[in-house]
Amino acid sequence: MAESEVNLSKNYDAIVIGSGAAGGMAAHVLTSHGLQVLMLEAGKKLPIEKELRSMEWPYDNPYRGQLPPDSHSLSFNEYTIRNPPYGAGFEKAKHLKSYIGGTDYLKNIVVDERENPFTGTNYAWVRARCLGGKTNIWGRLALRLSDYDFKAKDRDGYGENWPISYSDIAPYYDKVDLYLGITGVKENLPYLPDSIFQRPTKLNCAEVTLKESLSKMGRVLTQYRAGVTSDGLKHNKYRSRCYGRGACERKGGCDIHAAFDSPTGLIYPAMDTGNLTLRTNSVAREITVDPKTGKASGVHFIDSQTMKDYTVHAKVVIVAASTLESARLLLLSKSHLYPNGLANSSGHVGHNFCEHIMGPGVAGRAKNLVGKPPTLDDGRPGGFYLTRFRNLAEKHPKFIRGYGFEGGSGSTMFPRGTDTHGFGAEFKEEVRKNQVAFVGMGAFGEVLARYENYVDLDPVVKDKWGIPALRFHYKFGDNEHRMAEDMKETAQEMFEAAGFEIVKVTSRVLTEGWSIHELGTARMGSDPKTSVLNQFQQSHDVKNLFVVDGSAFVNASCQNPTWTIMSLCWRSCDYLADELKKGNL
Ligand SMILES: Cc1cc2nc3c(=O)[nH]c(=O)nc-3n(C[C@H](O)[C@H](O)[C@H](O)COP(=O)(O)OP(=O)(O)OC[C@H]3O[C@@H](n4cnc5c(N)ncnc54)[C@H](O)[C@@H]3O)c2cc1C
Ligand code: SF4
Repeated sequence: MAESEVNLSKNYDAIVIGSGAAGGMAAHVLTSHGLQVLMLEAGKKLPIEKELRSMEWPYDNPYRGQLPPDSHSLSFNEYTIRNPPYGAGFEKAKHLKSYIGGTDYLKNIVVDERENPFTGTNYAWVRARCLGGKTNIWGRLALRLSDYDFKAKDRDGYGENWPISYSDIAPYYDKVDLYLGITGVKENLPYLPDSIFQRPTKLNCAEVTLKESLSKMGRVLTQYRAGVTSDGLKHNKYRSRCYGRGACERKGGCDIHAAFDSPTGLIYPAMDTGNLTLRTNSVAREITVDPKTGKASGVHFIDSQTMKDYTVHAKVVIVAASTLESARLLLLSKSHLYPNGLANSSGHVGHNFCEHIMGPGVAGRAKNLVGKPPTLDDGRPGGFYLTRFRNLAEKHPKFIRGYGFEGGSGSTMFPRGTDTHGFGAEFKEEVRKNQVAFVGMGAFGEVLARYENYVDLDPVVKDKWGIPALRFHYKFGDNEHRMAEDMKETAQEMFEAAGFEIVKVTSRVLTEGWSIHELGTARMGSDPKTSVLNQFQQSHDVKNLFVVDGSAFVNASCQNPTWTIMSLCWRSCDYLADELKKGNL
């Protein structure tokens, strides 16, 4: 439907802001309850298969897959030595992208930093403004949280517990698994609960060697738990099963949608119910409030192409613009009734911002594989996940919480980590000889949620649509740096124990934001003085306002967040539909 055809005079049951993992799930659940839903998405609906071209060969691309010459993507050094907003010093680049946007395939998916500036402390803020948001290009590692995360305060005294336990969310994780599909292997670990898995991928030779060596150390390596359907989904006509084409790593997107993305997984099926109206190019500017009731009355938005503004009304407003954009929108929604921003009587909106620390890792060679013929090792959607082992049964003397490793081994289209020097035929021979033997992994660790780590609105800088930009006040702390030291040491120790020849050990911590797992800016809790949302992601202050993305997280845990975002959202939207039917909203 064209933007101009969307009925903006109707009083919808619910408006959903954002169309990523959270917005898509809200649309799916609410439309299946029969609610009339309007989805507002700031970005375009892209012809995504044409953007991703998952099977395009490098030589068929004019830039061999790199960005066109007028575009530039920020490097690690640029993030650390230049101050945001990233304008000055990049005059030659017509388009400026985050570090992830360095390929021709993602150039229209990832935002232009100039149109979408932010200020404050350095942060690698990756945003995808298009239908489906970051789910079009996510890495698909789909992990559950456990009571080691939800009740972490009970274990080490730090921070706050979540207002829910694993038993509250477990049935919703099951629903997400069955509706969207996930591959993996059961391990029966209390700190990393199993999903309802479809056919798993296979570990290759060096990965099995590492797994066996780790099991002697009491550590667990398992197949990459990917949010990918390996058996297919009979109830979804928009998605194919995974054919193991190995394009996951090369392009970051899956043009046959075996990997979950919000449009084909959630939004198109929701549209097929006849209950979902979608308006793209719609940048939400403010959530409007009825001054008589104090309740949310609708959304004021700007058409990103025509710059015209509109207001649309609904009984319930659901914010799902991603953790940082959702906080920004709440802070922008100031009124006489809510002078600090909407849902912010606690003063916690934008605070307790957390994510994962990345950087330390190891690369090596399985010596017994050097010189062996190449194998098809990128014909799968992921390698392995080495689960958390710190602060489970024992207490680490230097830091609290934990970390896991993502890794993989073997030969891929572009040989990895061979550390080969030289020229010509000899060089090529060296690369061929070593590529099968490559094995590497990098850590993702929990960044503690701290009130002092926060975002607010910049008083001066605005985005292309005249909307105040976010300002970051965010740094890793001592716990994170001590954890990063340990990541490096254990990575090395585990490769040595497996008998791998170590090629490189990395201790460098990457810029804040690198994990793209931002969380916590409108946390849930039982106490309205110290939290923004209740256990159903419903605002304590405004009962017909829900914030259903990663903002609601109380801590980051060390597991990737998207499967939890969608499971929480499903639970909250079931509650919302029920409350709306009872007339309680
Ligand atoms: C390269 C990459 C790898 C990743 N790997 C993993 C992984 O392996 N595992 C994992 O769990 N997670 C991973 N993630 C993170 C994952 O993509 C996010 O957790 C997930 O997409 C969050 O969903 P969301 O709905 O909150 O936000 P998004 O998916 O970002 O969607 C938010 C949507 O809201 C829209 N929006 C923003 N502001 C407004 C506004 N004002 N008005 C209207 N619409 C608005 C945006 O345009 C966007 O479409 C990865 C992300 C990237 C980019
Ligand atoms: S390996 Fe599977 S999930 Fe990855 S791009 Fe290919 S078909 Fe899609």
